[in-house]
Amino acid sequence: MRVNILGITVDTYSMQETVEQIRLAVDNQVQMRVVTANPEMIYASLLNQQLKKVINSADVVTADGVGVVWAARRLGTPVRERVTGIDLLQALFPEAHAGKWRLFFLGGKAGVAEQAAKQVVPKYPGIIWSSHHGYFSAEEESQVLEEIRHFKPDILFVGLGAPRQEYWIAAHPELAKVSVGVGGSLDALAGIVIRAPKLIQELHVEWLYRLWKEPWRWKRQTVLPRFVLKVVLQGLGRRTP
Ligand code: UDP
Repeated sequence: MRVNILGITVDTYSMQETVEQIRLAVDNQVQMRVVTANPEMIYASLLNQQLKKVINSADVVTADGVGVVWAARRLGTPVRERVTGIDLLQALFPEAHAGKWRLFFLGGKAGVAEQAAKQVVPKYPGIIWSSHHGYFSAEEESQVLEEIRHFKPDILFVGLGAPRQEYWIAAHPELAKVSVGVGGSLDALAGIVIRAPKLIQELHVEWLYRLWKEPWRWKRQTVLPRFVLKVVLQGLGRRTP
């Protein structure tokens, strides 16, 4: 099932269901694009038809962030749970290990993607991996594309920042069976950005923790009240006969 949030159709899948969709795509060699959609991205798509098209044409759009979970509930079609990029990455590793999948980690500053992969592989030695940083120039891009093509990933994790990673994935769907936009997840996996403690995540105030740890994000987070207002208006509009 899907829920329309400000024109973006978000899947209501649980984490397990999302992982299952991806597993099926890998097993059946079907190309799949996954967007982990947060309120900023959804709000930005109101003003950007191209972004809206790119997100809505993805095969799976997950509810990344408590704001999106709230919006879905408010609009009458709750999602099963929050499916963030970092949680999805971690949920995929046991499958990747069991299926000996080839994972390519793209994004972050030099060495970050490699460090992220190195955190994972000791626990899941079945995984075959490769990586590249996310700060390549337009001239270097063809080399990066060639590297990825040559590696033939089952899953390509792209952490180039939203929405650039969404455009990038949509422009190169042939690179992997499944491509997932993961934002800053590689930084978290590498241990460069420390994620909020579990309790804070469960209290649904991880955004507040990030604001404290990364105060320069406040500008980005000013979108949240505007997102909330738009969702409330969307809900009211639906109820008017
Ligand atoms: N990034 C990158 N190349 C760039 C710009 C950003 O690889 O040219 C990476 C950056 O290092 C960080 C991630 O993109 O790892 C940030 O993405 P975003 O802001 O979407 O992440 P969020 O913090 O919202 O998860």
